[in-house]
Amino acid sequence: MAQIIDGKAIAARIKEEVAVEVKQMKQQGLAPKLCVVLVGEDPASQVYVRYKEKDCEQVGIISETHRLQDKTKQQDLVDLIKRLNKDKSVHGILVQLPLPKGLDAISALNEISPEKDVDGLHPMNMGRLLRGENPDMQPCTPSGIIEMILSTGREIKGANAVVVGRSNIVGKPVAIMLLQRHATVTICHSRTKDIGAVCREADILVASVGSPGLIKADMVKKDSVVIDVGVNRLHDRLVGDVDYEATKEQAGFITPVPGGVGPMTRAMLLKNTIIAAKKAKK
Ligand code: NAP
Repeated sequence: MAQIIDGKAIAARIKEEVAVEVKQMKQQGLAPKLCVVLVGEDPASQVYVRYKEKDCEQVGIISETHRLQDKTKQQDLVDLIKRLNKDKSVHGILVQLPLPKGLDAISALNEISPEKDVDGLHPMNMGRLLRGENPDMQPCTPSGIIEMILSTGREIKGANAVVVGRSNIVGKPVAIMLLQRHATVTICHSRTKDIGAVCREADILVASVGSPGLIKADMVKKDSVVIDVGVNRLHDRLVGDVDYEATKEQAGFITPVPGGVGPMTRAMLLKNTIIAAKKAKK
């Protein structure tokens, strides 16, 4: 029976550490501030942004949400980002994705100053990650996943790691982070042949697909570490990409959905914000 990797508990610990640091920073006259840009009315995005506001409030980070209309023009979005880039009181900028149709997310993200890119998705930060230069801003979900794997005490060095999904926000960067920690990494995607055979070799398996229950227990190596990134709504409840009930009998460690990767992503965003604030002060 697998041990549950309690993302909520690890995230709570990180938040406590962040809160202590924020308090010290404020005593030195530095008030970390995160600006979130929310365009349109996407219901899931509204919920995520509310969570972020609440998280910031809990740890003492100043948060400011800039709400733009659904019909916002690309140039207006870019102008706002440029203004926030220049504003010295702002340390972190996050553009909530997805953007409404007609707006180009990639070129908007490219406008964020790399030093304020708390999502770690700017090409400068992603490029430096790829080159092994350990950028200050690293993508939140992958960083959270690494923390969760480390929490198990299992060694990443030399492990066979399989990442299912090759998105820019999770699959690719987490694969790079595992590689940098000396895992032997395989990335699977929709064209991978016999994905089960590849996954069965994984000491560490990360699933970031968006397909409920895609990873079955018989695709998982006994006693492995299984990280489920997927968030899927199924019959009015949230489930991951891993068939959790059956797989927990097979794995050594497993993350639940909800309560696994999600809270860790949010905690890492807070951590990135204070890193950005400290760097800005230097
Ligand atoms: P994404 O952009 O939605 O892309 C899905 C990836 O899965 C693609 O690389 C796709 O392959 C691959 N894929 C699709 N069907 C597949 C199959 N049958 N077998 C193997 N691979 C398959 O990925 P994402 O943004 O990483 O999101 C994935 C899931 O994670 C979603 O449920 C999302 O909501 C969740 N998520 C959660 C968090 C969190 O903090 N908890 C953060 C981010 C994402 P191709 O490239 O070949 O199309």
